[in-house]
Amino acid sequence: MAETFRGRRVLNGQYWSGDPYVKLLLDAMKHSGCAVNKERHFSCEDCNGNVSGGFDASVSQIVLCQNNICNQAHMNRVVTHELIHAFDHCRAHVDWFTNVRHLACSEVRAANLSGDCSLLNEILRLHFGLKQHHQTCVRDRAIRSILAVRNISKEVAQKAVDEVFESCFNDHEPFGRIPHNKTYARYAHRDFQNRDRYYSNI
Ligand SMILES: [Zn+2]
Repeated sequence: MAETFRGRRVLNGQYWSGDPYVKLLLDAMKHSGCAVNKERHFSCEDCNGNVSGGFDASVSQIVLCQNNICNQAHMNRVVTHELIHAFDHCRAHVDWFTNVRHLACSEVRAANLSGDCSLLNEILRLHFGLKQHHQTCVRDRAIRSILAVRNISKEVAQKAVDEVFESCFNDHEPFGRIPHNKTYARYAHRDFQNRDRYYSNI
């Protein structure tokens, strides 16, 4: 688990400081009683294939694949995606290892809320006007993510995603909306902070 210069900069948090997706998720984790400690809950490693990150539920640790993450925007997206898994792990009793539908739900949420599908979505919407493209992208990415970590057939992964899709696609916590870009994410963060303030006053 050699940590490179790149890895140490990541752990110092230089990459994340301004990212509204990451800020909201870190706040939400803290609010749920699962405050994230950069030293303890992140690990920078070299990974196989083109995997860029992972969440190790057994030790509650986010793995960042320093050899496959190419720039700051990519890093922020990977951290966001994995923090959504960490958030799900914190708030619900997710049975990651034996219940593929639990994993499928969290992958749908991560693909939907992390911005993984948003940029491409914007471009395609301009060119082709495909309204359903965001859903299709989320579904495809969730299936691919499951297949990257579980040794199951594509059909089994597709079935699991389809079974949970509607409820998990519509679960926008802690964003309260699909944050299609940084502006949406910033609004979501502001709303979350207000929600927090409101709850602490009653
Ligand atoms: Zn994932």
